[in-house]
Amino acid sequence: MFKKSLCFILCFILIPSFGGCSEKKASSTEFYLNTVITITAYGEKSQEGVRKAFDEIKRIENLLSCYIETSEISKINKNAFLKPTEVSGETVEFLKKTLIFSEKTDGAFDITVKPLMSLWDITSETPRVPADSEIKSALSGVGYENIVINGNLVSFLNKNTKIDLGGAAKGYAADMAVKVLNDYGIKNAILDLGGNIYALGKNPQGKNWRIGLQDPSKKRGESFSVAELSDKTAVTSGSYERYFEKDGKVYHHIINPKTGIPADTGLISVTVIGESSLEADMLSTAVFVMGAEEFIKIKDLFNFEKIITVDKYNNKKEYVK
Ligand code: AMP
Ligand code: MG
Repeated sequence: MFKKSLCFILCFILIPSFGGCSEKKASSTEFYLNTVITITAYGEKSQEGVRKAFDEIKRIENLLSCYIETSEISKINKNAFLKPTEVSGETVEFLKKTLIFSEKTDGAFDITVKPLMSLWDITSETPRVPADSEIKSALSGVGYENIVINGNLVSFLNKNTKIDLGGAAKGYAADMAVKVLNDYGIKNAILDLGGNIYALGKNPQGKNWRIGLQDPSKKRGESFSVAELSDKTAVTSGSYERYFEKDGKVYHHIINPKTGIPADTGLISVTVIGESSLEADMLSTAVFVMGAEEFIKIKDLFNFEKIITVDKYNNKKEYVK
């Protein structure tokens, strides 16, 4: 009855480049933030740089994942309704950025979707379609206005409020991993955090990195467009990334925080190209939820270079800043 799909590679196809580079190469693939992550870097200290970049991603997972019991986000989720909960300056700054973003998107992006994520449980082995009454009850805690930050103290105004940073943490981790690579003098690298790509510098041929955008209607590896990137990020939110099917209907992992059900604006994939992977990560999720028409009305509020959408009829559209 249930068909579940976990896609880690479907969104982008890294088009290989051959030869041309004499720089030392290091590459590693590891699993953090619930996704497969590959970092390939070039330079004298590439091996050490890649190792330390993964250490940084692991540190961020331990800080921000709501699935790690000792993380600061779990601490907030457990205590912040009962008493203001003290967390690090880094977590506070990160939360503030997500809250400002929520405001700009009028709540299309909202990190308090956790009660809904838990209810649908789409990323588990046993996802299910909840009853309307359950959705209503979960919705009572949803709303970024329920988070209050005072100095380093975080409080929740509602007892059902819980945070899930799944729509932003990979982008933040990509930006921070790039900073680490920079510290090791690495100018050229490609990072793939399960749908969040960061293309640093140039490919081994000295040209822009070429990233194929997966055609959602075609076989894995078939792209409909190629993005040429240098010091840029490309992030995709897609309903084909994580979903299950029940009675012929598809339920995916990007939830409309107002209705409590998977967003249904006709889009099946939104790719954001820009400079900040955190911003692109939040924006791809937000555009997916609000739909292209709503987004166009407020697009001047956001930093991005290009947005590419694919709808359920396989129409592709591009929006530039
Ligand atoms: P992404 O794949 O970046 O679009 O993020 C999807 C993930 O973000 C989900 O697995 C949830 O953890 C979380 N999420 C789902 N819906 C939303 C939403 N409307 N706003 C913020 N985060 C969300
Ligand atoms: Mg996102």
